[in-house]
Amino acid sequence: MMPISGNTDTIDERNVVIQPLSKFWFQSKVAGVDVLRLDLLHPVVSGNKWYKLRLNMAYAIDNGFKTVVTFGGGYSNHLVATAYAAQMFGLRSVGVVRGVYAEPTATLNDCQRFGMELHFVTKDFYGNKGDAEFLKELTADFDSTYIVPEGGANERGRTGAGLIDRFVSKKYTHIALAVGTGTTLAGLRNKLPLQQKILGFAPFKNAGSMAADINHHILPEKQRAWELLVKWHFGGFGKRTPELVEFMNDFYRETHIPLDIVYTSKMMFGIRDMLEACEFNSADRILCIHSGGLQGNSSVKDLLVY
Ligand SMILES: *Cc1c(COP(=O)(O)O)cnc(C)c1O
Repeated sequence: MMPISGNTDTIDERNVVIQPLSKFWFQSKVAGVDVLRLDLLHPVVSGNKWYKLRLNMAYAIDNGFKTVVTFGGGYSNHLVATAYAAQMFGLRSVGVVRGVYAEPTATLNDCQRFGMELHFVTKDFYGNKGDAEFLKELTADFDSTYIVPEGGANERGRTGAGLIDRFVSKKYTHIALAVGTGTTLAGLRNKLPLQQKILGFAPFKNAGSMAADINHHILPEKQRAWELLVKWHFGGFGKRTPELVEFMNDFYRETHIPLDIVYTSKMMFGIRDMLEACEFNSADRILCIHSGGLQGNSSVKDLLVY
């Protein structure tokens, strides 16, 4: 593994725990359901975002880049995690934000608070995000600028996400996680043995067509034992229903685990539906990855009991 430069002490893996759910929650339909609390890693650089960023940050620092540029929407966990991590390592950060906002979101305010310079572009223009000329215009000193793709979706992001395997013991038969770009899924699939099946829950519509793209980033011999579950989108990305909010509140009351409204709530809801439909064997052990994202709950805090 590449050495990590700079001070990573403020993000401490010792904060991460594996929390078993009670039999009451999974009604003894399987041998166990545990939650990997990556949300406890850090309040801003939460969960999988740190793993996708760490090798990108290390590369930028080790190669003398001064500025990091990345992309995201107004509620992007990736954008704010990058802002924070860049500041932590003394790098300048620039965020290219898709869409024009009448008022900045709480997430965007946080990005600025962590020193990120924001550039708002229309959705059409955002399509050019890979365009070198466009990026050149955004940064005065292009040569010392390192570009992290949206969602940290590059080889370093996947390799970094693969490091989450350190928390995944052999006893688990299924690993559940929420999918955005599929970077975390691909990175973990590349690392975990094929006896452990990965269930990727997509919190947006029309996710089925993504499977081929995700496979493209998985080693040929590992392009199986994973599945994209597309039913639990609740109307689309960032959309919610009263039933989902009620589920989050009930889950918190029963487990004291706060789920986020965009990703992990939909995954846990899906797991519970699958348990009720008896889609697992009684000897199965499921590890659900809580990938963080709790900063995004500020937009619904009036609806939540936590
Ligand atoms: C970004 C994010 C994901 C999606 O991760 P990908 O690697 O892009 O698939 C899942 N959960 C949370 C909480 C996130 O913030």
